[in-house]
Amino acid sequence: MVLDRTARKWLQNRFGEDVRFDEPMSRHTSLKVGGPAEAFVAPATLENLRLLIQWTGEAKLPFLIIGDGTNLLVKDTGIAGIVIVLTKCLNQISTIASRGSGVVVRAMAGARLHKLCAFAMAANLKGMNFAQGIPGTVGGAIMMNAGTSHGWIEDVLEGITILAPTGETQTVSKERLDFSYRKLSLKNEMAHLTPGYPVIIDGHFYLQPSDERQLQHEADEILKKRRASQPTHLPSAGCFFKNPASGKPAGELIDLAGLKGKKIGGALISPKHANFIINSGGASAGDILALMETAQAAVLNMFNIALEPEVKIVGR
Ligand SMILES: Cc1cc2nc3c(=O)[nH]c(=O)nc-3n(C[C@H](O)[C@H](O)[C@H](O)COP(=O)(O)OP(=O)(O)OC[C@H]3O[C@@H](n4cnc5c(N)ncnc54)[C@H](O)[C@@H]3O)c2cc1C
Repeated sequence: MVLDRTARKWLQNRFGEDVRFDEPMSRHTSLKVGGPAEAFVAPATLENLRLLIQWTGEAKLPFLIIGDGTNLLVKDTGIAGIVIVLTKCLNQISTIASRGSGVVVRAMAGARLHKLCAFAMAANLKGMNFAQGIPGTVGGAIMMNAGTSHGWIEDVLEGITILAPTGETQTVSKERLDFSYRKLSLKNEMAHLTPGYPVIIDGHFYLQPSDERQLQHEADEILKKRRASQPTHLPSAGCFFKNPASGKPAGELIDLAGLKGKKIGGALISPKHANFIINSGGASAGDILALMETAQAAVLNMFNIALEPEVKIVGR
């Protein structure tokens, strides 16, 4: 336990109904597993978020920013410190500038990615359709460099705003961001601004005008394909493993290892898409981790390939 009585009292006094203690993370992750967070705070304003980040810095308390928890596996023992969710305070989307033939759209980190897709669609702007069907928030998508075979977030992002531990906000242009497969970090010269990882406040997206019907047709096709190939209606965190740099994708390797339908406790390798681990009912994080290790061992044994989780595993 890292939060003592004084810290809990400060949080209670400052955040009132916006803080919950010993909050089960199974309520805040799409896998629907995970033990309690010592404190779970949903700041109602940017000012409150600023205050919280400054306080955690001064008090040297660990925190974890989350979006919708659609890429998170929280261990059964829970999370020491404070989980901060941005969906309550940072959810606006607006056009902030025109440049050349396109426009710059600012989406706050707690806004849902599907809302950004819908915003772009309503304004006949192309660039966001790759994200059709990816659940979660804009902040989570930026941090994960979310993407599909149709594109990645880095293709349309031209900058972000971050919140430093001092409480100052700073805009960071794309040139100072390091994007890789399902990962964002700040380049070296920026790293001093945020020890650990950056708290993302918003993203700026450069989008181009397009034809309304063509955009809608493309979006419909992408969603249709996704529903046909993925168990989208069941609790999961999307693709569990990163695809190896070359050769067969992770799902195919797991399938070839004979693990489609393999079950440990309530955790199941989807018979529809072998890179999806599903909570088929009553799974614990331990079940999911055991199934993850089973898949890794089988693929290593058969193909000599070490599968790396794409899902972020957090907890003590
Ligand atoms: C059915 C399904 C399908 C999916 N399909 C895809 C897909 O096609 N492509 C893809 O890339 N992903 C996919 N995912 C995974 C997931 O939806 C994405 O990674 C998504 O972008 C995560 O957003 P989130 O808000 O849920 O982030 P979370 O899971 O809450 O967090 C993910 C990471 O980002 C960090 N984070 C979140 N917000 C912030 C912030 N504001 N500042 C700093 N750090 C932050 C968290 O600490 C964590 O490390 C899928 C998931 C599901 C359940």
